[in-house]
Amino acid sequence: MKKRTVVLMYPPVGSVWHLPMGIALLTAVLQEQGHFVTQRYGHILGVEDILRCYDRAGLEAVLATIRSSEVSIIERYSARMWLEEASAQTETHGDTFRVERNNVVYVSEGLRTSHDDIQAALTAIENRRKHLFYPYFQAELLLLDSLQPDMYGISVDTERNVIPALILAAMVKEAQPKTLVVLGGNFWPRVLDETTAQQFTPLFQWVDAIVYAEGFQPLAELADSLDAKTVSGTAWNDRGVVRLNPRTSSPTHFHSLPVPVFDTSVRQWSPEMVPPVFTSAACPSACGFCAISAASDSFLGKARMMPPSTVADQMLELHQRHGVTRFDVVDETFTVGQQLALGRELVKRGFSATWQCYLTITNQLLDKEKCAQLYAAGCRAVQLGLESLSSETLDRENKRWNTPENYAQILRNLREAGIQTHVFLIVGIPGEPIQWAAQWPEFLREHGRNILTIKAGRYRLTRRSPEEMYGTHHALIEPLPDAGRVLHLNRDFQYRDEGSGRSIRKDVEAARDLVEQACREHWAYEVTSTLPWWITRGDYTWEQLEEQSVILRTTGVKTPKVSHIADARRRLSRV
Ligand code: SF4
Repeated sequence: MKKRTVVLMYPPVGSVWHLPMGIALLTAVLQEQGHFVTQRYGHILGVEDILRCYDRAGLEAVLATIRSSEVSIIERYSARMWLEEASAQTETHGDTFRVERNNVVYVSEGLRTSHDDIQAALTAIENRRKHLFYPYFQAELLLLDSLQPDMYGISVDTERNVIPALILAAMVKEAQPKTLVVLGGNFWPRVLDETTAQQFTPLFQWVDAIVYAEGFQPLAELADSLDAKTVSGTAWNDRGVVRLNPRTSSPTHFHSLPVPVFDTSVRQWSPEMVPPVFTSAACPSACGFCAISAASDSFLGKARMMPPSTVADQMLELHQRHGVTRFDVVDETFTVGQQLALGRELVKRGFSATWQCYLTITNQLLDKEKCAQLYAAGCRAVQLGLESLSSETLDRENKRWNTPENYAQILRNLREAGIQTHVFLIVGIPGEPIQWAAQWPEFLREHGRNILTIKAGRYRLTRRSPEEMYGTHHALIEPLPDAGRVLHLNRDFQYRDEGSGRSIRKDVEAARDLVEQACREHWAYEVTSTLPWWITRGDYTWEQLEEQSVILRTTGVKTPKVSHIADARRRLSRV
């Protein structure tokens, strides 16, 4: 096997607070085979580049504040406001770009307004010199002059980095025609299949392969052969026809994955390094609305898991390499059993680690002792999908382990154990009477003390979710024709409300406004916007966060109300 020079890029825009899991793992896989791999964290470098052009000294001061553990919450708030103002001043030529609260927002104007996404991408590539990240990408090309890579891989996971990724791919191909340009990441399995493949043909003038499956095997095979023709899980251009090679029939074992390799020359926006850890492929559940694990080679099948002993070994190895003790477990769900087993393995190694993770809200969390055991194992924060207050809705979404009557007690147990809680809520699930969603504000007021952060979103018909694939809600919603929107992860749809005399869509929008207003009134809204993600606030206790929240509020920090909130209240009062 030839030793190759490979660059793996996670392009803007992504979360500057997080290190990329995918390319760190792929780097380890390729390095194990003897390849020379350089990672580029464009989601951090690119955003910093833009803000540095705006005000170099200002950005350096803000980054110093963000990365210090010694500064006050007021100083952090000033840094946050600087970022919001600086990003708002950036010339975007019609695109949307903002660094706000816990998010870096980027929306390509072409993807927002066009009904032909590939044409929008081609236009963006053609007009690249005007693009927000063009100067940063030019700087990236300079690096290629010295590296002369055999393969350049670009990871795409959402709509917010697909257009920048395509522009970069074109620039790399034009600058280095001999380099194999490969796109991968969780985005492609959700948009690229036999029904859409030919629409992607024009992109193959710059792209040699798109990996639409788990990247472990395809990337290794591509590095070896530099030819996509026989590589599993890969789309390639066969003289104007896009061919999709099937995924591997023997998915990669998770216990054989190497320890991820991180590029420590780029720092995430936090006082300390908190690496992500990925221990299982695919969630074994199949909630109707969810396509999170569609990229997995065992999607809607059996989960493949790393044994707890291996997870503990990997954490210890990362500690020895980087001195880290906190980990961001990015598995779709990290069960109570897995966590307790991990805690026991860590004890055996004499290593004390803490983590945050996604967890299903099962009734075993009604047991206070179980929550205390989770904390003792090392769990410090959980992200829970509450989704709905209606058992009937949860039943229809194939999420029967959620018991809404127990949410309050479980949240209380977790807080008493010292575990931070993030909750996901969905407004507008098909078939759910709007009164259920309208109850969330009251729930949040009553039980918000035991909730740290809230993500409330409207229902989306997500491509490759069971509902989208099997049309299980078609009696309740109608998917709209969107043949050209192949770079969108969600499908357009309308509620079937004929004859009801009310617009369900408008009711959903009103309920969403009410829930958003309740989020803004929540005690931790400002403090968690100023200390975004567990990465930056994981060392604080609930009580310390409450104190910081009071400091911010008494200093006059106020969140504006949702516009038209009175209209929303009026509308739902008539339901
Ligand atoms: S919502 Fe959560 S539990 Fe349900 S399928 Fe998705 S990841 Fe799994």
